[in-house]
Amino acid sequence: MNNILYNSISSVKGIGPKTLELLAELNIFTIKDVIFNIPYRVSLSNEFSLNVKNGEKVIVRGKVENSVNTSFYGKNKNRSFFSLLTNIGSIKIIFFNQLYLKQHIVEGKELVIKGVYNSSNNTITASSISFSNNILENDNSYEKTEVVYHLKKGITNKQYIKIVQKCFDLVKKENCLIDLVPKDFKGIWSLYKILYTLHFPESSISFDKAKKMFAFHELLEYQLKLQLKNLKNKEENKESSIKISSKDIETFKKSLSFKLTNSQNLLIEEIVDDLKSFYQMDRLLQGDVGCGKTVVAATLIYGVARAGFQSAIMVPTEILAIQHFETFFNFFKDLDISVALLTSSTPSKERKKIINLLKEGSIDLLVGTHSLIQDDIIFKNLKFSITDEQHRFGVNQRRSLCEKGENINTLMMTATPIPRSLAITLITDIKVSTINELPSGRKKVHTTKATSKNIYSVFDNIISELKLGRQGYVVCPLIEESEKIDLKNVEEIYEKLNSYLTNNYKIAILHGKMKSKEKDKIIEKFLNKEIHILISTTVIEVGVNVPNATFMVIVDANRFGLATLHQLRGRVGRSDYQSYCILISDVKSERVDIMCLENDGFKIAEFDLKMRGPGDFFGTKQSGLPSFKVADLINDTELMYLAKKLATKLIDVTDNKDKLINYIGLHKTIS
Ligand code: ADP
Ligand code: MG
Repeated sequence: MNNILYNSISSVKGIGPKTLELLAELNIFTIKDVIFNIPYRVSLSNEFSLNVKNGEKVIVRGKVENSVNTSFYGKNKNRSFFSLLTNIGSIKIIFFNQLYLKQHIVEGKELVIKGVYNSSNNTITASSISFSNNILENDNSYEKTEVVYHLKKGITNKQYIKIVQKCFDLVKKENCLIDLVPKDFKGIWSLYKILYTLHFPESSISFDKAKKMFAFHELLEYQLKLQLKNLKNKEENKESSIKISSKDIETFKKSLSFKLTNSQNLLIEEIVDDLKSFYQMDRLLQGDVGCGKTVVAATLIYGVARAGFQSAIMVPTEILAIQHFETFFNFFKDLDISVALLTSSTPSKERKKIINLLKEGSIDLLVGTHSLIQDDIIFKNLKFSITDEQHRFGVNQRRSLCEKGENINTLMMTATPIPRSLAITLITDIKVSTINELPSGRKKVHTTKATSKNIYSVFDNIISELKLGRQGYVVCPLIEESEKIDLKNVEEIYEKLNSYLTNNYKIAILHGKMKSKEKDKIIEKFLNKEIHILISTTVIEVGVNVPNATFMVIVDANRFGLATLHQLRGRVGRSDYQSYCILISDVKSERVDIMCLENDGFKIAEFDLKMRGPGDFFGTKQSGLPSFKVADLINDTELMYLAKKLATKLIDVTDNKDKLINYIGLHKTIS
């Protein structure tokens, strides 16, 4: 394509080899790279700074340091002054004949002031004083804006601006910036104007406007890509349909010892419909810890098995695999469904047997860890794959399970809900089902904080629960660099607790480095109430289900992330007994405070997202979420919605989809 945008910047006059090298370090090679390298902020060039000169008009922001002093002179004339603390120090502000302002200028108040700087006595004589940023809106005389780029040493902002100007001169001549957004769409400027304004804004307001519009362009491009991709993937595919009979679903429900919640019933219906349809399923099932996702999965697996197909469920830890195996085994024991367990500690003889049975089709459900995705694990007719606690798997691992057969329908289950503010359905093509109800009778886990000084009163709380016949957990943080320290922590708590407990209560230690046989034994004993307290590192974090456990003590809780704390707390409160969570922290921790206030996993996820940003929250690369230059997955939901609608329309009306695809491919601004 002969488009000047893709010309190397070496073709721009006045850019020498040294500059080329520096720009290359910034990943800037073409003219397009230059003009799509968006500045990150605007600076007002006459903002009060150390370089300000006598008599210059300035804008200064700061906090009032003391109350206003006034002196009177002449007839009805007065002069007032006060001191303002700015980010480069204190400065005296003077104003004349505006006594009415005095009552508003109180210590600590934030002000924006326009005025003239006087260097002889280091003062600013105010022409206007404002209590908000509004002062800047109507008066351009103060604003000489300049944008600021993320650059490297060796190239200054001023030099870069010159390069941008040269590139724009070329682009303008060629007029080669093609717009995806139709003319006159919602008043959005042409891409050329947006980009030009971003680099050379007239005011900070026009910069912000252009930024929003650029975000829209990015989102539109992303939506076009997503939808074009889906057009290809989502063609009808009769082979992926599973004819699940509603009679079978009812039979399974009747076999349960409890009644499903409304929410569970609705979701089962929704997912069954999806499994029956001629489209391959790609669905996320989210719900707070303890809401009962496993039984939903079991119901579906039963339906799938009765329709003649195999299912697989992959979980992140061995403990969870064993537990799920037992749970499903119990669900299915009178229903003629065969379940097998496969993990890295399955003995090779048994493994061989399982492989044979799988190939024959005599195993209906295979439960396991990553072992399921090994090459020699071959199914006869796998059509339903589930990953539990999906946030713990990377995209690729999830995918490999889908490659175990053709036309596989996938369900991912997670107790780390996706915050509503992320509007995931706008961002990806995954369908989302949400269980928004806990089984009846569940009580909020009573959560409090403590410091290590009052560890013995924490122990007293534990003892009261033990006396009621309950069990519980004490969790210590895992310090990855040093397993020895981990164990020391765990062992220290063990010694303290053990010597404090008078009765015959049994405590056991569980940690990641134990052999899986040992771990199984301990969990089994815990389930049988032969062990009353489990002291562990976070190996129990996900999925473990022991309804009789009612207390969870977390040592150094400030060291855990919010999602982990919520997961850990979710190990208790799994029955109608009142449960307790005590968070021990010797430092102030916002996360600990949030946990004490909030029980709802969705709200906690929302906090988590705010504190960490979407990148860290999901590990964007791993999650497959897009990252944008300007658009923001949280704050630009509305723009995303608009972009989605426009993309659908554009694809509908285009007479040449290939051209559109080609264009999107070339015009990438998303990384
Ligand atoms: P999670 O969604 O965290 O994976 P589980 O599936 O482990 O939760 O379920 C937690 C507990 O709640 C299990 O003991 C399960 O048998 C029980 N349970 C699930 N659904 C119901 C229900 N509708 N009524 C009563 N108990 C239920
Ligand atoms: Mg679970």
